[in-house]
Amino acid sequence: QQSLQGKTALVTAAGQGIGRASAEALAALGATVIATDIDGAAVDRLAAGSERITGQPLDVLDAAAIGALVGSSPPLQILVNCAGWVHDGTIIDCGESDWDRAFDLNAKAMFRMMKAVLPGMLEQGSGSIVNIASIVSSQKGAPRRFAYGASKAAIIGMTKSIAADFVADGIRCNAICPGTVDSPSLKERLAATGDFDKAHAAFTARQPMGRFGTPQEIAEMVCYLAGDLSAFTTGQAFAVDGGWSI
Ligand code: NAD
Repeated sequence: QQSLQGKTALVTAAGQGIGRASAEALAALGATVIATDIDGAAVDRLAAGSERITGQPLDVLDAAAIGALVGSSPPLQILVNCAGWVHDGTIIDCGESDWDRAFDLNAKAMFRMMKAVLPGMLEQGSGSIVNIASIVSSQKGAPRRFAYGASKAAIIGMTKSIAADFVADGIRCNAICPGTVDSPSLKERLAATGDFDKAHAAFTARQPMGRFGTPQEIAEMVCYLAGDLSAFTTGQAFAVDGGWSI
């Protein structure tokens, strides 16, 4: 198992789900973790459980707040971009404001975070950025995921572009494409269909392994990509999807 001792990681949307599991897993490997979320109380609760985790409120839609937080943080070696939002619907259901919100939170927020963090990483001559995309992106289509899939595909494009631009500067940038993962917002989406059990069965059926992933199973890939075990790997989109994309 690798050690992340001596590295500082900033994680967005660390209040619950994949972001929270990632913050915990990075800290368990020795990293100092700045766990951020728009829900400041959630990251404070997380921080209370680990001396290596600090909680900071951060809305990733707020460029000024991102600049202020990154500016006042110690040098970062790891950035995990996890904030995201699912618009449920086809192109017929998708209004301009839905499209804009999906791209603002899923794609532009990562642009803002990476733009704020990269100068410091370039100064150090090293850094690893891990972007949480989705298998529903350029990798695979899924019903009622029009704006979501388009915005998640943009993450893979940004990831490859940054990897190409900074590959000679010690910066790596990779994306993870989760399948269906059992998180608080997934449960809300299942409930919002009006028939939780039916939706749960349908979402489970599309996972060839017959089950959802856990946030911890995604966090394992976050840790691999964040640390030096993956030193020869950049610009890739890794499916951790229970076989959905086979
Ligand atoms: P989640 O959706 O349950 O939690 C999201 C977190 O984001 C919450 O703590 C929320 O407070 C925070 N958040 C919302 N708006 C924010 C903002 N503007 N600024 C900062 N934080 C904000 O978590 P999840 O389901 O594990 O999803 C995390 C990421 O993984 C998302 O990008 C999602 O698209 C992606 N993903 C999830 C699944 C899945 O099935 N759960 C599958 C593929 C990809």
